[in-house]
Amino acid sequence: MASHIVGYPRMGPKRELKFALESFWDQKSSAEDLEKVAADLRASIWKQMADVGIKYIPSNTFAYYDQVLNTTAMLGAVPPRYGWTGGEIGFDTYFSMGRGNATVPAMEMTKWFDTNYHFIVPELGPDVNFTYASHKAVNEYKEAKALGVDTVPVLVGPVTYLLLSKPANGVPPNFDLLTLLPKIIAAAGASWIQFDEPTLVLDLEPNKLQAFTAAYSDLASSLSGLNVLVETYFADIPAEAYKTLTGLAGVTAYDKLVVSTSCSLLHTAVDLVNETKLDNEIKSWLAFAAQKVVEVNALAKALAGQKDEAFFSSNAAALASRKTSPRVTNEGVQKAAAALKGSDHRRATNVSARLDAQQKKLNLPVLPTTTIGSFPQTPELRRVRREYKATKISEEEYVTSIKEEIRKVVELQEKLDIDVLVHGEPERNDMVEYFGEQLSGFAFTVNGWVQSYGSRCVKPPIIYGDVSRPKPMTVFWSSTAQSMTKRPMKGMLTGPVTILNWSFVRNDQPRSETCYQIALAIKDEVEDLEKAGITVIQIDEAALREGLPLRKSGQAHYLEWAVHSFRITNVGVQDTTQIHTHMCYSHFNDIIHSIIDMDADVITIENSRSDEKLLRVFRDGVKYGAGIGPGVYDIHSPRIPPTEEIADRVNKMLAVLEKNILWVNPDCGLKTRKYTEVNPALTNMVEATKQIRNQL
Ligand code: GLN
Ligand code: ZN
Repeated sequence: MASHIVGYPRMGPKRELKFALESFWDQKSSAEDLEKVAADLRASIWKQMADVGIKYIPSNTFAYYDQVLNTTAMLGAVPPRYGWTGGEIGFDTYFSMGRGNATVPAMEMTKWFDTNYHFIVPELGPDVNFTYASHKAVNEYKEAKALGVDTVPVLVGPVTYLLLSKPANGVPPNFDLLTLLPKIIAAAGASWIQFDEPTLVLDLEPNKLQAFTAAYSDLASSLSGLNVLVETYFADIPAEAYKTLTGLAGVTAYDKLVVSTSCSLLHTAVDLVNETKLDNEIKSWLAFAAQKVVEVNALAKALAGQKDEAFFSSNAAALASRKTSPRVTNEGVQKAAAALKGSDHRRATNVSARLDAQQKKLNLPVLPTTTIGSFPQTPELRRVRREYKATKISEEEYVTSIKEEIRKVVELQEKLDIDVLVHGEPERNDMVEYFGEQLSGFAFTVNGWVQSYGSRCVKPPIIYGDVSRPKPMTVFWSSTAQSMTKRPMKGMLTGPVTILNWSFVRNDQPRSETCYQIALAIKDEVEDLEKAGITVIQIDEAALREGLPLRKSGQAHYLEWAVHSFRITNVGVQDTTQIHTHMCYSHFNDIIHSIIDMDADVITIENSRSDEKLLRVFRDGVKYGAGIGPGVYDIHSPRIPPTEEIADRVNKMLAVLEKNILWVNPDCGLKTRKYTEVNPALTNMVEATKQIRNQL
């Protein structure tokens, strides 16, 4: 009975890679410095797994940006606009594809299955000529070997790689990507090899399944002597791990069984050891990547007849303590949430009538401009929050600094002549953490980071108990901001589905139950904002799609309770209160009816990386009648969009959308950008809008 780990977090226990990357991008350190940090991280991970006793230890799960982009680099599938002329792909080309450069935007990025990890979408056309352009997989295998660890190189499987890619511009849409399979297979090579094929858990059409069979029988015949491990994940095993395994052991020889994690540990936090602020009771209920490695090994050993009794009994005791802990249960909350099920919650007036009522009050120009919420988070701002948290500065000093920051952001927006303002979210570290910290039932980590894209990490809260809101969370800041301007100031909240999907959620009750509990807490906040005179309230549901089950059979049920939860948050407001929502994903054609069913007054969506697909959605939007703000430029890249480019985009949108419902905004929050990027970008955005208004 052997143990195996599918993949491991690459950022490091304290986000060492993030800091090394950002310093390299800012030209504060050299390529060698970056490579050294990366090599040290890899070495410590391999050693850790080897010490625990894991038999199949992965290599090549490390990436400077993304494992799918690594595959693109390995295959030399660089789109021509990046000017790569052959040879081993270096940081320049690699990061240009991932992040864009001064002249060329980044390649499209999208979410990896139902996680919050984003990958760079390969662009493949019929002319693509795969060449072996990055030796990373082989180099890392050798690197581990030199450290005395024999590893299993992990590659994104050919079927998954192809099915996730899109045809390059100019290629007819009926181009069959799967004809490229043989080229990919020809480029692969190693001794033990793991192909990650999470695509296989989707509901695949027969031709795609055939592609899979073909690819792997080719592999088997052309690479005899090679052990191929095909890994699928993101689908549940509906039984407790140990029982499942003993069951399996009955039908297979023990020596053929491998105990493994259910997916790459990339999607979990790194090590519970670094959690100094969690109390021991909550800690005993948790396992991060390093702990899961130990658990996998303990399970494999137990099944091989060497059960570590102490390990298993302390694990059982922890589970029992969680079942009976009073910290987990709040009966009032449970009752209120249960009462919501089965009934409908909708605003009484339809959206067109509501928009009319709102416009009378707001009096906005055609093509109103706005932003998605956050403004750049400067080092100074982070310092203020950090020092306040560490009680190094007083509450008074903290409030003064944050107010000053809000004033700056408000003044800037007035100067830029933006119509609906935001306060900039300077008091928030993270859009979910900020709310979780003020709600009961949540616990927080110090270092529980998970990679989202590139060097960006998120620190998901842990929902361990029933959720309630002891007191208002945002009203003070929003009303302070509103008092600084005559223009409408958007109240800014994170929606229940997003809070749920970006947290580690308790598994002792259905997720829908937890979501309804959060919805009730946000509902109270919405109503308190309205009472405080805030007339536009944005409830972000950035992660609505992330919770969508991968298989179609579970999707309708999820969308039903998720959308219902969103509506619950704002069902109590007046017609004149304008509810916005924001979503950041691109594949939403298939859930457009659910988005409409959310019944928001205005939806801003991320789209600047995936234009064409959206036209259909826009048309549905027209039928719906709500306001729509498809992002007019990409905030994930440092590039500054020229005025003409934005104007061009808005004109294209106007070709399908009625002018009275279109909003103009960037495609997401600006917190990761610098003021030197945001100022000119927003200037151009407003300028483009004014030019178009004059032509209407
Ligand atoms: N209001 C949030 C912000 O601007 C939304 C972020 C997001 O959609 N991820 O930062
Ligand atoms: Zn967004």
